[in-house]
Amino acid sequence: MSFTAIDRIPGIVAGLRYSFAQGTTRPEQWRREQLTKLRGLLLDRGPDFERALFEDLGKAGTEAQLTEIGFLVAEIDHALQHLAGWMRPRRVGVPLALQPATARVVPEPLGVVLVIAPWNYPLMLALSPVIGALAAGNAAVIKPSELAPATARLIAQLVPDTLDKRAVAVVEGAVPETTALLEERFDHIFYTGNGKVGRIVAHAAADNLTPVTLELGGKSPAYVDDSVPLAEAAKRLVWGKFMNAGQTCVAPDYVLGTRSVLARLAPLLADAVHELYGSATSENPDYGRIVNRAQFDRLVSYLGDGDVAVGGAHDATSLHIDPTVLTHVSRDARIMQEEIFGPLLPLVAVDDLDDALTFVVGRDKPLAAYVFSDDAAVRERWERETSSGALGFGVPVMHLTAPELPFGGVGESGMGAYHGELSFRVFSHEKAVLAKPLRPDTLAPTVMPPFTAAKDGLVRKWLRKLL
Ligand code: NAD
Repeated sequence: MSFTAIDRIPGIVAGLRYSFAQGTTRPEQWRREQLTKLRGLLLDRGPDFERALFEDLGKAGTEAQLTEIGFLVAEIDHALQHLAGWMRPRRVGVPLALQPATARVVPEPLGVVLVIAPWNYPLMLALSPVIGALAAGNAAVIKPSELAPATARLIAQLVPDTLDKRAVAVVEGAVPETTALLEERFDHIFYTGNGKVGRIVAHAAADNLTPVTLELGGKSPAYVDDSVPLAEAAKRLVWGKFMNAGQTCVAPDYVLGTRSVLARLAPLLADAVHELYGSATSENPDYGRIVNRAQFDRLVSYLGDGDVAVGGAHDATSLHIDPTVLTHVSRDARIMQEEIFGPLLPLVAVDDLDDALTFVVGRDKPLAAYVFSDDAAVRERWERETSSGALGFGVPVMHLTAPELPFGGVGESGMGAYHGELSFRVFSHEKAVLAKPLRPDTLAPTVMPPFTAAKDGLVRKWLRKLL
């Protein structure tokens, strides 16, 4: 493994800061060039990225295209299409008391930003924030996850050679390298990963008053009632849960339903697993593996927390765990205490809708909640009474493919959001620009001392109304 030498890190950041100060990254033309080159890299070297993702996670080529490579290309296309509009200053109104004057909101780049990525979508989550950072005219340091080493290596090899080296750097490394990075001053830190490290990042950022976006995880619930066709609901749950072998931040973590619904749902989930992945999932090239032994052992230790409806087989050598559905899981079981982040789907019985809502509201706010119900009143209660990063009716995961929907968490599942135009806004400062001619002078006769009785009357009676 070739990590970046820690003593090089201050120089790398200083170099980027110099380029930013020179104005290298500001022109629209530069931003377009970078995005276009990144797009070209993803397309030209797609097979290499697919191989790396297969090496790190056993990811199928089609899934790699769907959730990582093609996803990024679509994001770049969206940014290129809208960039001119996003960059354009926005004229806003001014109150009567200020007139004559003009007011504009002018987006400007923040400076040098740091993007820290996790291992589960190691390409997409390293580069997706960078698309926003470059579109907004920033210089960026990318810190890929050391736990997806093949992808991290490829990013480090290819990205600096493709993009403008003066403004984009990749730092390879683990905790010591990231710690050294966090000692530097950045203008924004964009972190995706778990909440424990999210807190470390937020602490470090506070020392420099650096704003942060924290894209974290949590236990995203799914609720199913019998107003929907259960076989279709089961298929969507299986798809959302077992893509990337369950290692997806917005995967449905567990399913809530009444005993009778769960009794009917469990065999349908088993059918859906067979339909999507066949019966010998260890041989199936469409099904990924667990990232490493530590995660494998943690996941296998949950298998006793319920009755196996489907799956359960696992193999430490190949880091394989079958897509597994567990029934009769108690609310206090270990599997229900932390984010599962693997291919185990526990079914947890509730008495009714109220019980399900109370259960979810009583826990940390999740990154997503999924509701499978065709009853409008049920949907409305989920929308009104629960808080989560996103809410999906009838479909898991897919909200993150709509560029106009903010993608991010709330509370324990994170702060800040991105995708589409928001990715541009996250990495921009919205500067308020006010221009008022010196003549006619409307200020001296109204708000400046000496305060005469007439001015006093004006301020007390009229100014409030004119503002
Ligand atoms: P990880 O272990 O790869 O860590 C993420 C990054 O933090 C890595 O780059 C790593 O080097 C760095 N890091 C780890 N320990 C550190 C420390 N002590 N100090 C400084 N930096 C450190 O990934 P992970 O955290 O295991 O990722 C899984 C978590 O991420 C899950 O909770 C998942 O839900 C969440 N996640 C969230 C999103 C989202 O978009 N909201 C997406 C993917 C994953």
